[in-house]
Amino acid sequence: MTEKEHKAMLKKIQEGLATKVRILVPANACSVCRRVEGAYEFEGVPELPLEDCAGIDGCNAMYAPVLDQFGP
Ligand SMILES: [Zn+2]
Repeated sequence: MTEKEHKAMLKKIQEGLATKVRILVPANACSVCRRVEGAYEFEGVPELPLEDCAGIDGCNAMYAPVLDQFGP
């Protein structure tokens, strides 16, 4: 995905029902990507694609919504 596509995805997540955003990385991702995997507040989320990514095919980290407002 391009930076533009990532930004569009992040915007969509922020405007939706999500309370946080998660960075998902594939199991075979490089150590840089694996280190940023996890849930973030919208203000603190790292930009994708990761600049330091060491993946041969480019960075495969992705944004995904965290939907936790339906709990008790
Ligand atoms: Zn990577």
